[in-house]
Amino acid sequence: MGQVQLCKKQPLDRCAHCPACCHIRDTYAFEVNSESRFREIVFNTSYVLYLYPFQRYTISLSREEKERLESLAIKQSLNIKILPKKILYHESADTFYIMDYFVDHDICPFLKEKLCSIYPDRPQICKDYPFKIESSDAFQNIKSFIKIKNIEKPTLSRVEATTLFLTRYPIYA
Ligand code: SF4
Repeated sequence: MGQVQLCKKQPLDRCAHCPACCHIRDTYAFEVNSESRFREIVFNTSYVLYLYPFQRYTISLSREEKERLESLAIKQSLNIKILPKKILYHESADTFYIMDYFVDHDICPFLKEKLCSIYPDRPQICKDYPFKIESSDAFQNIKSFIKIKNIEKPTLSRVEATTLFLTRYPIYA
């Protein structure tokens, strides 16, 4: 079970129900070398590949949520771009697993006139707001998945595994 934290953007007792949380791209920026070192540590300890600069990531979606949002976007004639967030490479089976996804927009495309246009169907992370579940849950799930699938640390480097993924799935390049 992960820790529950109040979101830093808006203290709960001062929540003005504004749509600020739907401006989903974080503004923090890693220094390039720190980011690269951090990616390396994550890959070496949890085998997780991140394809994109960290500042590009936004709200996390499960596969089911990704499919639901894509189908809602079609119904609303919206263009939505959803990309893989955490990826594992099972080298002996030569298989990539996408563990979760993110919405690749600065502002959520479902935000209309300061309101969520898919409120009953919004992702869990939006339902949880202004609480934020620490990401340890996600990494715990990944650890369990690695055990179940018997995944070992790839002999490929992080960069080689990333290049292989993007070559195989250029749609995500
Ligand atoms: S799905 Fe709705 S609540 Fe969630 S970020 Fe988009 S507009 Fe905001």
